Amino acid sequence: MISRPQRPLCIVISSPSGGGKTTLCGRLLREFPSMVYSISCTTRAPRPGEVEGENYYFLAEPEFQRRVKAGDFIEYAQVHAHWYGTPKQRIEKALNEGRDALLAIDVQGAERIRTLISGPVSDILKTALVDIFVVPPSINVLQQRLDGRGQDTEETIALRLANAEKEMACRDRYKYVIVNDRLDDAFERLKVIIEAEHRRVV
Ligand code: ADP
Ligand code: 5GP
Repeated sequence: MISRPQRPLCIVISSPSGGGKTTLCGRLLREFPSMVYSISCTTRAPRPGEVEGENYYFLAEPEFQRRVKAGDFIEYAQVHAHWYGTPKQRIEKALNEGRDALLAIDVQGAERIRTLISGPVSDILKTALVDIFVVPPSINVLQQRLDGRGQDTEETIALRLANAEKEMACRDRYKYVIVNDRLDDAFERLKVIIEAEHRRVV
């Protein structure tokens, strides 16, 4: 039997802060070793344990703005009082090599990518987007998870929870919404979506 090669995807995962993006992306990268994680640039300070060039590229604001002007980002946005941007080159390279690109970005960034692909872009990018919104079982659980992560100040957590409601209101813009209740179950749902999208005829 001749099987069709799987098509490369631009997988965009959004959720409120603490929703489980980082955890689920880590699992995806282990499950799909050829998947390329998009390392964003940010003006926020590193959290304990975060590594430059692994979690993010941590930039001072003038350097971030220089890259915006140079057109280095496929999208960028201000989120929770800091700037974040997705370098273009890494995404294009992954897709051209037939590999999936994985982006954990906010709702504004996802919207910018939708707008971008509705305009003149390469055929490969035009059909590659798979956008997935991860919801926590409840706002209370979200708060517990943010507290439990133990990496943000009370003030930061309060800001992120306040933004969570607004972010959740954007979930209907996404092709898929999954609930992150039990981690294993949420991951299984995510995996099924990606495997189906790999084989979808476009
Ligand atoms: P995000 O990247 O969306 O901000 P994280 O992946 O850092 O979220 O998850 C926030 C916290 O919640 C982490 O401490 C993580 O270990 C925990 N967590 C994520 N998913 C679950 C789950 N399904 N059940 C329990 N804890 C979870
Ligand atoms: P954190 O500071 O918790 O790592 O991320 C805060 C928020 O910024 C999350 O919603 C995360 O998905 C989002 N984010 C991270 N990188 C990018 C990016 O490159 N672009 C956009 N638009 N959002 C990002």
